[in-house]
Amino acid sequence: MAVREQDVESIVKQILEQMAGSVAPVAVPASNTGIPSTARVAMLTELEKFELKEYPMPEVGDDDILVKVEGCGVCGTDAHEFKRDPFGLIPVALGHEGTGEIVKMGKNVKKDSAGKDLKIGDKVVTCMIFKDNPDITMYDLNKQNVGGADVYGLLPDDDIHLNGWFADYILVRGGSTVFNVSDLDLDSRILIEPCAVLIHAVERAKTTGILRFNSRVAVQGCGPIGLICIAILRTMGIENITAVDGNAQRLEFAKKMGATATVNFMEHKGIEELAKAVEDSFGGYLADFAFQCTGNPKAHANIYKFIRNGGGLCELGFFINGGDAQINPHFDLCAKEITLVGSWVYTLRDYATTFDFLKRAKGIGLPLAELITDKYPLEEINEALKKNLEMTGLKIAVVNK
Ligand SMILES: [Zn+2]
Repeated sequence: MAVREQDVESIVKQILEQMAGSVAPVAVPASNTGIPSTARVAMLTELEKFELKEYPMPEVGDDDILVKVEGCGVCGTDAHEFKRDPFGLIPVALGHEGTGEIVKMGKNVKKDSAGKDLKIGDKVVTCMIFKDNPDITMYDLNKQNVGGADVYGLLPDDDIHLNGWFADYILVRGGSTVFNVSDLDLDSRILIEPCAVLIHAVERAKTTGILRFNSRVAVQGCGPIGLICIAILRTMGIENITAVDGNAQRLEFAKKMGATATVNFMEHKGIEELAKAVEDSFGGYLADFAFQCTGNPKAHANIYKFIRNGGGLCELGFFINGGDAQINPHFDLCAKEITLVGSWVYTLRDYATTFDFLKRAKGIGLPLAELITDKYPLEEINEALKKNLEMTGLKIAVVNK
C-alpha cells in the first residue's frame, strides 16, 4: 500500500518530536542547570560609588570553578579602596573575604589545594592566585607569607569581570588556591580570611618561645583583629589575657572572646598610669607577651611599657603604612631584652590551620559569629562600605540571599 506524501510528513514529524523528547535531558540547556545567563557584579566605578553591573556568565574552562557567592566580609582594605583607590584599580570588583557554593567546574578540577575532593555543591573559599613562586607553599612552615600575591577582589578588571566576591558569581580560574570548607557554617566561612591573619600572628609569636599556657598576655586594640587574637589565645589554653582599648563596648566583647581583664585607656592619664593599670590587671605583674593590634603609631610606642623584662611582642597592627612610631631603643628594647616579631598576612599553611581554629572556637563556645554585627544585601553595598568607614560596628558583611 502506497503511503501518501502527507502521511510521510506527519510520521517524520512525529518521530522527530519523539527523538527531541528523548534527547532533551542529555543536552541540558543553560537554564536547566539553574545557572542564569548573566551575573551581577558590584563594580566600584568611582570613589565611594559601587554600581551593580550585569555581565554574561563566562565560559567555565577545564581548570576553572564557577562559584555562586553566599557572602563576603568587608575588609579595611576594601574601605581604603572605596575611599581613596590607593591601588589605582578603579573600575574594580572588590571583596576578598568571600565564600560560596560550586555550581559548575571544569573537567580537570578534582581536588582542592589541600587535597580534599571537590564536587558541585561544595562550599569553598579562595586564598590567592599562584604565580609560580616556590617560596609560597602550603607544606613548608617556614616559607613566606602570601603578601603581594594576587587575590580575587583586588584584581584589575578584565573581559570576565567576575573577579571579586561582592557579586552573584565569581569565576575561580585554574591556578588559584581553593579550599573545600563545606564543614563550616556561613558566618565562620566569612571570617576565615581575617582569622588567618591572626593564626599567622600567633604562629609568629610562638617562634619567640615566650608564649606559654600560663603566660600573661596583653592584647592592645579590640577591633575584629584584636578580638580574634583573644579568641585564638583562648583556644590555645591561655588563661591570663588583658584587653586594652578605648571603647567600653569593645572591651565587653573582648571578655566574651575570652579576655580575663580589660583596661580602658580613656580612664588613664599618661603612659605610666596606663602601664600601671595593665600591671594591676595581672595582679601586679607586667605582661609576658603582648600583641599590638591597632594601626596607631602611638599605640606601638606605648606597648613596650606593658611588657616585662625578657618578654615578647608581636606587632601586627600596621597592615598598611600608618606612619613612623617613636620608641626609645635603649629602654624599650635593649635594657628590657624584648623579643620582637612582626606579622603580616598569612602563609597558605596558616589558612588551612584557620579552618580547625574556627571549629575549636565554636566547640568551646566562643561567640565568633557575633563579630559580624551588620549584614547587607548586595544591592546595599554602598551602605555596607559606609558603615565600615563609620567604625560603629565590628565586622560588616555582604550576604546574598
Ligand atoms: Zn581582608
